[in-house]
Amino acid sequence: MNGMKHNLLNVCIGLMRYTKLYRLLCPFFIGSGVILVLHRVLPEKSCPRIAANSRIEITPQFLEQLIQFFLGKGYEIVSLDTVYQRLMRSETGSPFVCFTFDDGYADAFEVIYPLFKKYQLPYAVYVLTAFPDRESLLWWYMLEDLVLHHDSVKFCYQKKDYNIKTVSRAEKEVAYTNIRDLFLSVPPEQMEDVVEAVFSPYSFNRQDYADQQMSWEQIVTLAQDPLVTIGAHTVHHYNLKQLTPDQVLWEIQAGKKRLEEKTGQQIHHFAYPFGSSKEAGSREYKLAAGCGFDTMTTVCEGNIFPEHRQHLECLPRVEITGRHQDLTLVDLRRCGLVAFLRNGLKRVAAE
Ligand SMILES: [Zn+2]
Repeated sequence: MNGMKHNLLNVCIGLMRYTKLYRLLCPFFIGSGVILVLHRVLPEKSCPRIAANSRIEITPQFLEQLIQFFLGKGYEIVSLDTVYQRLMRSETGSPFVCFTFDDGYADAFEVIYPLFKKYQLPYAVYVLTAFPDRESLLWWYMLEDLVLHHDSVKFCYQKKDYNIKTVSRAEKEVAYTNIRDLFLSVPPEQMEDVVEAVFSPYSFNRQDYADQQMSWEQIVTLAQDPLVTIGAHTVHHYNLKQLTPDQVLWEIQAGKKRLEEKTGQQIHHFAYPFGSSKEAGSREYKLAAGCGFDTMTTVCEGNIFPEHRQHLECLPRVEITGRHQDLTLVDLRRCGLVAFLRNGLKRVAAE
């Protein structure tokens, strides 16, 4: 989206928000309901944070407010199975909201589960299996600690010397983003090399970060509760667009199979890693569609309409992030108008 269009969109959203005009238009864009995507639910930390990591966190209090907000608006809080059934049977009724949490961080068990259990409400967790298999390195949290706790970051990677100043808050943010982009740009087989290059000059214990991921024991406990849906999210959470078709299929199928072996249940739902149009498009949608899932979700913003029955391989979601802990904004976005404006005036924006 070019800059002018983006600004115009923000002005429109601002106007809608302050005039409450969106409420009048809501019936035209709200559709059947909305699938929310969230990541982590943790108490607010008082220490400085890197925005890219804190943005995927909301507080337990805000999660409870969200639940109460949707119930107060007459929404039915449903599982992914119910979303699928409603689409297939073209069911109408009260609008639905489906809460989904990506990746399988430990708070999906420790914080989110007790809350949904208290209300006896369903939710879903999409798990990348390298998390419980402890084959994933949470480098994005290691990197956050690295830039926060040092005044410079020095390393050598592929014969290039990096010496990045990280004194001020702004410098720390820029350094984090640049090094993160380096991590995200390397092919999977070079990941260990870049990790070694960046972190080996410093004393990092990888195990210190492992407990932030759910264990198999926790996942199996969740899977046994009918309130919780475990969905697949590949093995390694790579950008699927950077992989060959065979690698994409392996990532999707091996993640599904591993979850099925461990939980003893069929896995019917899948979310694309990262999930924006930069990491999943028509090629990935086609490949995932052949893997036996009922629904496949992206993070492209949108509400669910009956027409999505034809697009089960790319259902949109509405992301709730740390920056969106504001019920007025949630109210605006659940109406679907923001997505409509963003998606080029289309209610169903499938590729
Ligand atoms: Zn993810």
